[in-house]
Order: sequence, then C-alpha cells, then structure tokens
Amino acid sequence: MMSEVRERMVRSGEVDLCAVEYGDTAHPTIILVHGYPDSKEVWTPVAERLADRFHVVLYDVRGHGRSSVPTPLRGGFRLEKLTDDFLAVADAVSPDRPVHLVGHDWGSVQGWEFATVRRAEGRIASFTSICGPSLDHFGHWIKQRLARPTPRRTAQLLGQGARSWYVYALHTPVLPEWAWRGPLGRRWPKLLARAERLEPGTYPTGSLPHDAAHGAWLYRDNVRPRLRNPRDDAYAHVPVQLITPLGDPFLSPRLYDDLERWAPELRRRTLPTKHWVPRTRPDQLAGWISEFVLAQEGVDTGPPVGTAAIGPARKSRGGRPSTSSARLRAAYAERFAGQLVLVTGAGSGIGRATSFAFAEAGARVIAVDRDAEAASRTVELSRLLGAAAAWAEPVDVSDEQAMDKLAARVATEHGVVDVLVNNAGIGMSGSFLTTSADDWRRVLDVNLWGVIHGCRAFAQQMVDRDQGGHIVNTASAAAYQPSRALPAYSTSKAAVLMLSECLRAELSAHGIGVTAICPGLVNTNITATAHFTGASQSEQERLRAKSSRLYRMRNYPPEKVADAVLDGVLRNAAVVPVTPEARAAHLLARLSPKALRAMARIDPPL
Ligand code: NAD
Repeated sequence: MMSEVRERMVRSGEVDLCAVEYGDTAHPTIILVHGYPDSKEVWTPVAERLADRFHVVLYDVRGHGRSSVPTPLRGGFRLEKLTDDFLAVADAVSPDRPVHLVGHDWGSVQGWEFATVRRAEGRIASFTSICGPSLDHFGHWIKQRLARPTPRRTAQLLGQGARSWYVYALHTPVLPEWAWRGPLGRRWPKLLARAERLEPGTYPTGSLPHDAAHGAWLYRDNVRPRLRNPRDDAYAHVPVQLITPLGDPFLSPRLYDDLERWAPELRRRTLPTKHWVPRTRPDQLAGWISEFVLAQEGVDTGPPVGTAAIGPARKSRGGRPSTSSARLRAAYAERFAGQLVLVTGAGSGIGRATSFAFAEAGARVIAVDRDAEAASRTVELSRLLGAAAAWAEPVDVSDEQAMDKLAARVATEHGVVDVLVNNAGIGMSGSFLTTSADDWRRVLDVNLWGVIHGCRAFAQQMVDRDQGGHIVNTASAAAYQPSRALPAYSTSKAAVLMLSECLRAELSAHGIGVTAICPGLVNTNITATAHFTGASQSEQERLRAKSSRLYRMRNYPPEKVADAVLDGVLRNAAVVPVTPEARAAHLLARLSPKALRAMARIDPPL
C-alpha cells in the first residue's frame, strides 16, 4: 500500500506551497485539498489507497503545514487567492490535462469556488465534495429561508445556525489564535481522537496550532462577505460527486437539498459517520473517488452503481412510485451503492426480497442459502435489478466451519462485508411437551447458532477493518410475544433479539450498528417448510397447508420487511417491529405484559 512520495514547492504569488505527489504521473491526476484545522496529511490514508491507479497530489493550503504564510494575514486567505494557489499547483503537477479535484471541509468550500469560477474551467475534470458547502450556495440557502420562513425552513435555519457556533467563535479577534497556540492546540489531538475514534498519535501533525491559528482567516476573509453577497453564477462547470456524512456535527445534510440547481451533473453518496471522513473511512472514500474519476475518464468500470441517486426515480415493483418512496429509493442508493452486502436465507421470502432491495440500491450482493439453486436465482434477478455485482454462496448457516470458510473466502475475493443480514431461519410450531430434544436442536441450530456463526465470522473482520459496518439479525415478533404454541421458535428468536442488543452495545464503540428485525406474519414459504412437533406426516402436511392459507390471507409482502431492513440500517435502529400486529405486540410488551401473557394461553388459529 505504501507508495513512493515526492515533495516539491510550488510558487503562487507571494507564497510557496508544499505539495507531495504519489503514483505514476502518466495516470489521471487527483488533487486532494484539506480542510480546517488540518494539513495535507489528513489525506495520507486515502492517497495511499489511490496511488496505484492515479497520480495523487496533496498540498498544504497557504499558512498551513510546510506552505508559507501570506503577509498580511488579513485578506491573504480570500477565495480568489486560494484559487490562484490551486491553479498554480494544478499547472505544476498536470500542465497538459485537467485534474480531478477532491476537497474535504474547507478544502471542499474552496473546491466549490474552483469548480464554479470561469478561470478554472477546463482545468478541472471532476469535483468530489466532502463536508464543505459552497459559500455562495449557502448564502442563497439562507436568503431563501429568510425570504419565505415556513416553520420547516425556520427550523432548518436555526438547526444549521446552532451547528455553526464555531464559525462565530472564529470571527472574534485574537482569542482563537491564543486558544490554538495554547490549551486548545495542546488538547486537540486527544479531543479529535476521542470524538472521531481515531487511533491516538496518528494525526494531526505538529504544525496544528499554527495551521489552526492562521486558518481562522479562511473564515474571517470569506464567510461574511460571501454569505451577504453570494454569487448568482456559482454553477458547477464539472460533474460533482457529493459525499455527505449523516452524523456531521457541523453541517446539516439539509444544506444540500437544492444542490441540483447549482450542479446539474450531481451524484450523491452518504455515509453513517462524523466529520473527519478522510481519516475514518479511507477505504470507502478511495473507492468512491476512484469509481467517479474513472467514469469521467471514460474507463468502463461495469454498470454504474446507485443510478437511482442521479437519474429519475425508478418505478417500484408495485407501479409508479410516490414522491416519498422515490426519495427513499434515492436515499438507499446514496447509502448502499457499491457496498458489500451479505444476506443469508437469500433464496426465498424475506431474504430474497432484502437481496433485491439492496440490489436496486446498487449494492454488491452475496446471496447465501443452503438451497444452491434458489441462491443462484436470487443472484440472477439481483443483477437484473441493478446490483453492482452479485454472487451466490450455497452454505448452511448452522455449520460453523462452513460459515468460517465463507467469511474467509468473501474477505479474500470481495473484501470486508459492509452490511451483514443474518436472516436464514426455519419455522417450528407445537407445544413444549411435544417438542423433542432433536426438534430443539434443529431450530436452535439454524435460528440461533446460524446467527451466532454469522456474527462471529464477520464481526471481527468489520472491527479489524475499523471502517464501521452494520449487522441485521432477523428475529421475529415471537421474540417478545410468548405463545404456548411456539416455545422453541420463540426462544430462538428471543435469544437472537438479546444477542443483537448485547452485540449492539459492544460494537457501537467500533462504529458498527446492529439491528434486530421483528416481523409478524409475512407471506413467505416459511409455513410450507415449518415443522409441527408431535404431528404425524399427514398431520404435518395438513397443518402446513392450513398455516400457509392463513399467511396468504394475511398477505403481508416480504418486500415491506426488506424496506424495513434498509431503513433500519439507514437509521441504525436497534429493534424494528414490522407489520401492524408486531408493532402492537411490541407496544403491549412494554405497556401491559400481563395482557400478552393472557394472549399467550390462547391457541393460535394454526
Ligand atoms: P422462507 O422459508 O421463505 O426463507 C428462508 C430461507 O432460508 C430459505 O431460502 C431457506 O432455504 C433458507 N434456509 C433455511 N435454513 C437454512 C440454513 N440452515 N442455511 C442456509 N439457508 C437456510 O422464510 P422467511 O419467512 O423468508 O424467513 C426468513 C426469516 O424471517 C427467518 O429467520 C424467519 O424466522 C423470520 N421470520 C419470518 C416470519 C414470517 O412470517 N415469514 C415472521 C417473523 C420472522
């Protein structure tokens, strides 16, 4: 992963800029611009990941790192001067070809200026913006909300106003410089490491106090003038990829609601993370930057993933989508496009519908099922529905060794799984007294051990990668709703629910979410394969047919459970009851467990 690094100084007006280059200069050039309070080293993990395919350039913004400081400071950081700097670096490192620009935080604020001013036209091939809006767009965003202050717009204004507290602080004279060169500068590395869960001591560099003190002028020189008088012509002259972390404490995702107006060729991506993405999600960033840059260079990288995010909303399987479902699909595509998703029990019912939903969002899907043919069919259809890629894995989830081998194979061939859905399960019905020890083993082996094996095999990989992830376990409303008819099944699902809660507590420290899905009665194949304890073969068939009829009459589609899965991951929900009866039982379990106990004594209509 380490690549040879070359350093050079580039003259821009009165300042010298320190730039470093990775990779072969014959490859397309990507310039990564850092934010505040940062230096170019914030990009090192991303640069290293891009260096084998691209010529990657980082530079210290004037007044930062090893670049020189403009004098006087006041006026020395205006966006016009920062544009001079960028063009000087671009001319030095890639005189003959336009460069691909990527900016984080203030690097992105600057990037918007470069990508919208005429004099940079032709020098930039694409722009990836991360955590930094255009001040001009922001100015118009504020003006529109002040001009027509509906309650929702006022709340958006106040929300962003509260997140911008540090901008006001940086406008006070002298104090920020004193704080950064003194106590704040000393504490910042630890504060940052704690807030963003970075490994202590790896970042930032020793120049931080000076960088941060000088960089206060980025705000003072630009924010007020631009927000008061935003440019009316700040239209992007290049394709833009917008990467928005959903947990950014400084910027509301709402800031970008109207962005298509300014950047007609816009691709959106979201991440469940905080602000310092170049440090916390270098793999994901490098993947998205690389894909976007290669697409602009005309390199065929396979079918475009997550096109729902940039094209018109697709028709849902049920016909024309409503605006809200179209918005949901776009949100799924923003979040899951290109992500590696593994679903167990993917050959039928909820698992198949979940695979399809991820496929439609442009994910890479691994369909696991003990029924090889069913898994292959899911894969075929997933490809048709828009999966970036799809593979079938015929594996029995109750087989510990097979699951370990699967995890190792997936890691080698496709990388670490971003979303794991432990969904495979079987039905079992019948009283405790008719349930044999073999029956217990049968249901626990699949429903509980299958989930445990999945979590054990894949969670450690997610933790080791240290880039977050999500685990979804399919429990059931039976997990919290006792029934005299389902002792074994309900016990297996209650265990899955508790396992999910415990795992969620443990993995949250690693940025990994865990969600338990608790459906009620869903119209799938589960009733046709369920085991009825103590029943003769002919009685089995009769009971299966009867319960299948009941589930068909209830007719709750697995696609709705799949939607709940994607939404649950998006919201990092802990427990998601699906179907009205599952939600009602969930409420009752809290408000009146006695009522649920009374209901548990009634024989279900199976
Ligand atoms: P389904 O029978 O339609 O699909 C289950 C799939 O899992 C099948 O393709 C099957 O081959 C596969 N599978 C079973 N055992 C396996 C094993 N050991 N290894 C690998 N694959 C295996 O059922 P479904 O309704 O889609 O069930 C999915 C999950 O949802 C299960 O965990 C089930 O308990 C749960 N659930 C279903 C309902 C419902 O009403 N359908 C309600 C609550 C929870």
